[in-house]
Amino acid sequence: MPAGRRGEDLGIILDRALEGHRLSEKEALLLFDVQDRRIWEVARAADKKREMSVGNRVTYVKNQNINVTNYCINSCGFCGFSKKPGDKDGFLYDMEEIRRKTEQAKSRGVTEICTVSGLHPDFDAGSYKRIFSVIHETAPEIHIHASNPMEVSYAAMKSGLSTEEVLRIMKEAGLGSLCGTAAEILIDEVRDLICPGKIRTDEWIRVIREAHSLGIKTTATIMYGHCESVYDRVRHLSILRKIQDETGGFTEFVPLSFIHMNTPLYRKGLARAGATGREDLLMIAVSRLFLDNLDHIQVSWVKTGVKMAQLGLLSGADDMGGTMFEESISKGAGARNTDYLDPAEMERIAMDIGRPLRQRTTLYDLL
Ligand code: SF4
Repeated sequence: MPAGRRGEDLGIILDRALEGHRLSEKEALLLFDVQDRRIWEVARAADKKREMSVGNRVTYVKNQNINVTNYCINSCGFCGFSKKPGDKDGFLYDMEEIRRKTEQAKSRGVTEICTVSGLHPDFDAGSYKRIFSVIHETAPEIHIHASNPMEVSYAAMKSGLSTEEVLRIMKEAGLGSLCGTAAEILIDEVRDLICPGKIRTDEWIRVIREAHSLGIKTTATIMYGHCESVYDRVRHLSILRKIQDETGGFTEFVPLSFIHMNTPLYRKGLARAGATGREDLLMIAVSRLFLDNLDHIQVSWVKTGVKMAQLGLLSGADDMGGTMFEESISKGAGARNTDYLDPAEMERIAMDIGRPLRQRTTLYDLL
């Protein structure tokens, strides 16, 4: 029987975590294993920790996605978004379209544009430079939160540059912060199964460290609920905690619950049908308790739905992420209602649990 089901030590572990003791991997494993009503004890402790760390407010950012292209040289098993040249529904925005979408974002009062896209066969460092420059010239006041270590590594490879050079080029062109996506699970054996064409764990860590050393903040993510083990999740959290100890460059942690419906991984029987509600809740709660050096834990309403996201806010999370005009990556994988969440609805959700909603910038300054 897993340790968490035996009831041993749970209260002591939670009390000590609230007193400032750093959770070990073994303790995190024990918390992830809880299956009965004691999940509420874990959630309660995480909620307390959240209150002690960042107070009661729930934050959000007004953002818009511009997924520049869905053509991608990779074929990740969990992706329902990417297309190959010749596929119907494939798209690539030209600079005029990117300018138009930026103007649209501006008129909506958006403070952040996010541009994570497929790895287009023709893209190189210059492509990313042009995209960021157009956005930055059109709306210099909007923060560009874009790309990820995979895109940086791809651009470097295509242009014969180092990843550091690419990051510098991106920063000069207007990149404000880098997405911490493409992390999935930072365990190579799992990556070999779910995204064999993606950069390895070491490379993800290296590019993230490089970005932080250049003053480019990043988010940190995990994608869970497919074929990883609970131990893989703990190892992943450990890697993130170590990087944060060294660089302090993560702005937030965003657990991304696997959307299985339209993905090859699920269709081939290699992944299960996503995380359960218990797992979604514990992912937030254990992250809050384990990542003692990261202030902000975000609920992804796009992945879990708004009702589950609200429970996440009662289990250690303090941020609702973005309004997300034009979300197409989760939609491609089969998620519903991913297009836009009105701040008025976010406020209703926050007020319903007695917490105030505040708009923030990408880097967590309050507006
Ligand atoms: S997850 Fe990203 S890199 Fe992988 S296939 Fe989809 S778009 Fe391409």
